Amino acid sequence: MSGQAPPRSDGLPVSGRGPVVGIVGGGQLGRMLALAGRPLGLRFRFLEPKDDPPVSELGQVIQAPYDDREGLQALAEGVAAVTYEFENVPVESARVLEQMAPVFPPPAALAMAQDRLTEKESFRRLGIETAPYHPVDSLTDLREALKKLGAPAVLKTRRFGYDGKGQVVIDSLEDGEEAWSELGGRPLILEGFVPFERELSIVAVRGRDGEFRDYPLVENDHRDGILVRSRVPARGVDEELQSKARRISEAVMDELDYVGVLAVELFQVGDALLANEMAPRVHNSGHWTQDGAWTCQFENHLRAVIGLTLGSTGLRGEGAHMLNLLGDPPRRERLAAIPGAAIHLYEKDPRPGRKVGHVNLIAGGGSGPAERSLEDRLREAIELLDG
Ligand code: AMP
Repeated sequence: MSGQAPPRSDGLPVSGRGPVVGIVGGGQLGRMLALAGRPLGLRFRFLEPKDDPPVSELGQVIQAPYDDREGLQALAEGVAAVTYEFENVPVESARVLEQMAPVFPPPAALAMAQDRLTEKESFRRLGIETAPYHPVDSLTDLREALKKLGAPAVLKTRRFGYDGKGQVVIDSLEDGEEAWSELGGRPLILEGFVPFERELSIVAVRGRDGEFRDYPLVENDHRDGILVRSRVPARGVDEELQSKARRISEAVMDELDYVGVLAVELFQVGDALLANEMAPRVHNSGHWTQDGAWTCQFENHLRAVIGLTLGSTGLRGEGAHMLNLLGDPPRRERLAAIPGAAIHLYEKDPRPGRKVGHVNLIAGGGSGPAERSLEDRLREAIELLDG
């Protein structure tokens, strides 16, 4: 692009205007990528079909469908790299973009993450444990799968499920028909119900040169399939469990020659970690890194895709909690008054259950454990959010 300063050997301009990164998608993850990239001198361009998206103040927005040829072309023109902020970017669009600019993470990662069956098959091939599963394309398949896996089991759409949408728990073998009437007619997968002790996630980043770094394991609580809270470090994690999780993300990333941040959601059962799904992008369970890690997931994703050295994934304090703000959270101003609370809002219109922001609480965080403990501040925040 004209006016763009020549990059230094590490990819950043010394002065003048920095390189442009193209992002497919204009939601809160794109917004937080841009907010993290601006101090590095990066500029942003987005492809987003919706009006007035959360990124609208943060760069040029090309308003077009994700598979619009001209839109894709306009996005890719002169950029240092193109990335995405959601995993349902059409793979074909990513391949078109690849003809024009470096595209990271690789489109193959999108293909793997977009279909729960392909994803689970890939995990297994890489020696990563998963729930037992069976593809389901008809009611007969479902009956057979239920016989094999037993109940309870979880029936899920293979594609386009998120935040617990597109899935039904089947409690007994007789309930198959009801679940089929709800989800049938699309490619489905039946998963054995995992009696997990807790849900964890591993957020890691891989650079263009293969450099790899992982953040400490995150412990996640969901309500109605939606993430409500993440805590770091996850309780009682030892180096062995962290290494096990690290090996999972490394295996996936090495297989795909991955570049960028990858999150893998895990079920812990005893010492075992079962992979549930992966997100080839920055992830909600990594939002705590904005205030609780030396380099946040957003900056590290950008560093990776434009070919910079990665930043430290170490904890900045003793730990952090992230609480999602869902719907129309009451008493935001009182949340802001909690010492060490960092509020991040997405400029989204509230709707019930919709993620409109999050708050990070940092252990220590300026209030000092002697003044008010993290648990105490957390209790206040949760009380405010639950009304
Ligand atoms: P997902 O859309 O696959 O992330 O599922 C949403 C949530 O449903 C997960 O975070 C779990 O709490 C629960 N869940 C999904 N699959 C299973 C399973 N096979 N066994 C037990 N719980 C599950």
